Amino acid sequence: MMNSPQPPVSSPGFPFDPAEVAPRLLAWYGSHGRDLPWRHTRDPYRVWLAEIMLQQTTVAAVIPYYQRFLGTFPDVAALAAAPLEQVIARWAGLGYYSRARNLHRAARVVAGDYGGRFPTTVDGLTALPGVGRSTAGAIVSIAFDRPAPILDGNVRRVLVRLFAYADDPRSALAERRLWGWAEALLCRERPHAYAQAIMDLGATVCTPRAPACPECPLIELCLSRRQGVERQLPAARRPRPVPVRRQVALLAEVEGHYLLRPRPAEGFLGGLWELPVADLRDGELPLAAARRLAAELGLSGNGVAIGRLKHAYSHFTLQLDLVRVQARPGGRVADDGWHWQAPAQLATTPLHGAHRKALDRFLRPAAPTPADE
Ligand code: SF4
Repeated sequence: MMNSPQPPVSSPGFPFDPAEVAPRLLAWYGSHGRDLPWRHTRDPYRVWLAEIMLQQTTVAAVIPYYQRFLGTFPDVAALAAAPLEQVIARWAGLGYYSRARNLHRAARVVAGDYGGRFPTTVDGLTALPGVGRSTAGAIVSIAFDRPAPILDGNVRRVLVRLFAYADDPRSALAERRLWGWAEALLCRERPHAYAQAIMDLGATVCTPRAPACPECPLIELCLSRRQGVERQLPAARRPRPVPVRRQVALLAEVEGHYLLRPRPAEGFLGGLWELPVADLRDGELPLAAARRLAAELGLSGNGVAIGRLKHAYSHFTLQLDLVRVQARPGGRVADDGWHWQAPAQLATTPLHGAHRKALDRFLRPAAPTPADE
């Protein structure tokens, strides 16, 4: 752990004049700010949608989803009126699906309880499902042009470095300090531009591994730069071992149709579709697990292993074996909720990420060989 001067918590002492930060950021933003689709609007619905999509997801990945989502749900009334399955289908591929379910719930609250108008305060917005303090701060600043602190990943990193905060930035103490600094640096005159400027600085200049300090408008103020520790901050989290979960998924086929079902709406990957799947028991081989699973479903037929992949989730890594089972026509599947999907439906079914990856990787039609041409 590094030793560096730390401002006291209750009355943050500043290593620079805090009033200098906003003008420098705004001047830089005028020529270096990013031109993003959600920057062309102050519509709280669109600002909210972008902020939710940007949680845990990069700008490049969000842009096409944001545009497609708005094409289907142009306003909060359209989103509130849509069935959850349609919202999940539009979200499929973006990950962290609880965001889509919360988005839908929040839209129904705004449409039903607020007459279609978004709350305009941080407290009002944080009462909506899926909206935390930082997201609410971004919406208040950007949509309503009122100063409110933001502490997303980019802003957090800028502040940690600006103040050379050397301890664990995820501790409760760090949380209090960072929110205090975010509040103290706010711009009262142009909150809308300031919020975007500090987020952009973190995203494009004060980047995680290699901050481009010579291009930074805050270089003369930045304490970690003065101390030469900017690349060592924020302090690294001690890596935790990631557990591996081993599963087998069945590609059960009858006359070109595949067995799939939607997962329950609540919980992990809620509302997304899946293949029949089972955890491998201790020492169990994938083909044995596939036979057990097929028998539980009332399917007969031998299994053939067709591939294995790994898929990373935030809290575990999935090792998935895919086994093809040619089932007998006319057989009944033991559990409810299963559907035999035609190949044409397969492409548009909102499968969760690991099963979509498995089908894309292993179900591709074989490339034509010279003998086929
Ligand atoms: S000077 Fe460097 S470390 Fe400091 S805020 Fe700017 S980019 Fe980040």
